[in-house]
Amino acid sequence: MLKYGEKVGIGLSGGKDSASLLYVLNEITKGHGTELYAITIDEGIRGYREEAVKNAERLARELTIPILVSSYKDFFGFTLDEALDFRNIHQKSKVTSCAICGPLRRRSLDRSAEKLGLHVLATAHNLDDVLQTFYINLHSGDLERIKWLDPAYHPSSNSSFKLRRIKPFMEIYEQELAFFAYLKGLPFQSESCPYMNEGIRTEIRENLNSLESRHPGIKYSSLKTVLGIASGLEIQEKKKKSLMRCEKCGSVSTGTICSVCETLEIVANANR
Ligand code: SF4
Repeated sequence: MLKYGEKVGIGLSGGKDSASLLYVLNEITKGHGTELYAITIDEGIRGYREEAVKNAERLARELTIPILVSSYKDFFGFTLDEALDFRNIHQKSKVTSCAICGPLRRRSLDRSAEKLGLHVLATAHNLDDVLQTFYINLHSGDLERIKWLDPAYHPSSNSSFKLRRIKPFMEIYEQELAFFAYLKGLPFQSESCPYMNEGIRTEIRENLNSLESRHPGIKYSSLKTVLGIASGLEIQEKKKKSLMRCEKCGSVSTGTICSVCETLEIVANANR
């Protein structure tokens, strides 16, 4: 996943998965000319994010890895709490919190990576995350997003900034990462995001956990099937989402308006 001398950013949320990823990458890249940077994005979630950011800063300091902390407020002018307050007051059909938060986080990480001049962005998505994402896309009929789960698939980008994304923990169970983080005494936040139960992901997580408890190993064999499907999937050229420039912000997008500008529009409309 990594080549000699690359500059690698790690999305460090302050939770157990990303804390473990920072620790492991720091251990295995020693002596390989790799420069590591931690990137922490503060979404602005009262009573939740403050502790996670402190843990992230503490871990980066202990491992002597430089850390860049940025926030939605810096990038977009509002916190996630403010965006959701606007939505709650003004929107009749509610867009879920994660649907608003996800695109903003991806854009924040991209901008931070660009600022640091990184070659690679490593995120701590684990086996459970990958399976949940598969089922979310299966239920919404989004074949191309299933294709994106194939680690060897790199959709062509017309951006001048080329960033490779890797998920080193995609074959590791979430529970094992929690165990690892406890064993190593890493500082991490154990509390969950207060908005996490709005989307379908929580229901899928519970179903998969219940299957795993009755049939140990089923998640791992499902992952092999998912990766097999993703790698064998051929998206017809005419059905591929072609990449273009967003008409509003100029970022690479699969539509005329990118998901971040659509999200900003939702928040702005709710705020009117
Ligand atoms: Fe954002 Fe959803 Fe994650 Fe909370 S659970 S931080 S709202 S993506």
